[in-house]
Amino acid sequence: MRRTLFEDVHDDFRESYRTFLEREVVGDDGRYGEWERAGIVPREVFALAGSGGFLGMAVPERYGGAGVEDFRFNLIVGEEAQYAGVGSFGLGVTLQNDICLPYFLSYCTEQQSERWLGGIASGELITAIAMTEPGIGSDTRAIREGEHYVLNGTKTFITNGVNADLVIVAAKTDPAERHRGISLIVVERGTEGFSRSRKLEKIGQHAQDTAELSFADARVPVENLLGEEGEGFRYLVSNLPQERLSIAASAVAACEAALVWTLDYVRERHAFGQPIGSFQNSRFTLAELRTETDIARAFVDRCALALDAGELTPEDAAMAKWWCTEVQGRVLDRCVQLHGGYGYMLEYPIARAFADARVTRIYGGTNEIMKEIIGRSLGL
Ligand SMILES: Cc1cc2nc3c(=O)[nH]c(=O)nc-3n(C[C@H](O)[C@H](O)[C@H](O)COP(=O)(O)OP(=O)(O)OC[C@H]3O[C@@H](n4cnc5c(N)ncnc54)[C@H](O)[C@@H]3O)c2cc1C
Repeated sequence: MRRTLFEDVHDDFRESYRTFLEREVVGDDGRYGEWERAGIVPREVFALAGSGGFLGMAVPERYGGAGVEDFRFNLIVGEEAQYAGVGSFGLGVTLQNDICLPYFLSYCTEQQSERWLGGIASGELITAIAMTEPGIGSDTRAIREGEHYVLNGTKTFITNGVNADLVIVAAKTDPAERHRGISLIVVERGTEGFSRSRKLEKIGQHAQDTAELSFADARVPVENLLGEEGEGFRYLVSNLPQERLSIAASAVAACEAALVWTLDYVRERHAFGQPIGSFQNSRFTLAELRTETDIARAFVDRCALALDAGELTPEDAAMAKWWCTEVQGRVLDRCVQLHGGYGYMLEYPIARAFADARVTRIYGGTNEIMKEIIGRSLGL
């Protein structure tokens, strides 16, 4: 089905991002494989993405961005990384654009905007957001002492955790309160008492640096508080729909990429004297996967338009996230099956995409939590 949400300006942007990925990320020298083995993307690639205009598109022009608040550009950045088979590079960039930047845009003071927005758009400043803790509940504390917050605690599974220059940390500024006691505080690279663990070893998403972050009497100036003290939980709730839509959109793009690779494969590969794609089982499987993917695509595109119109509800975003990531799991699994043994070999993009896909049902809030959100919206 023809997609109707893009205009010429988006198509041009897509073309230039595709060229950027081919030239700087995929390359013809195996560099992406090296980043996967190293478990991290070189920082310079963020700067290259920034100079190409692919980071912080929504940052106002006076701070060095494009000043364009249009999620369709973000969609393209996430999609093209999946189509190029470099989804785990894409995660770092979409984390910066789709997940971290909205907090900076919404809650920075003028002085904070001057300090940070230009660097986020140019890629000189890499961002992360640290919500998840090794235990249950928010145990990271930020207790005010004069003109500083003193942070103690640990965050885990933090994307861009090693590369990040600015980490938005959700911490308890008032341990006596529950949600009302949480604030968002930006911790900068080099802060004394702030350390990062080794990169965590993961099943997939290998080019993505994921780390544990520790705070031991880390003193952060009060001017690094984002927005109002005690409002952190409310800010998280209002920004999570965009994060979940971003995950859903990348999931659908991963399915589309898998279908292209698999169709090529089943046309080329022969068994019993005929292409494996000519078996009825292959045709039926691919027909089912094409249908599931296209239906998921229609909902995600609709959600993107709702987001730009300021109408995306937490329930709609939760539906998109759980549904599309479940579809991704099914599609990738069955595409691996159609590749036979080669589908299990990491030299094939389908194998890497399969491994990368598993986490999407977990991060951004597990799919069980998505169903809680949807269920509660039904008054249950
Ligand atoms: C690769 C990767 C990158 C990540 N990046 C980030 C990041 O950048 N920043 C960040 O803050 N976090 C990040 N995370 C953390 C991620 O968001 C969490 O792992 C996820 O939200 C689940 O939380 P948890 O691990 O504490 O699981 P738990 O909450 O312990 O869940 C364990 C199981 O219990 C179930 N469960 C829990 N509560 C309920 C309930 N109320 N009802 C029913 N079932 C329930 C869950 O669905 C799950 O099946 C990342 C994780 C990974 C793996």
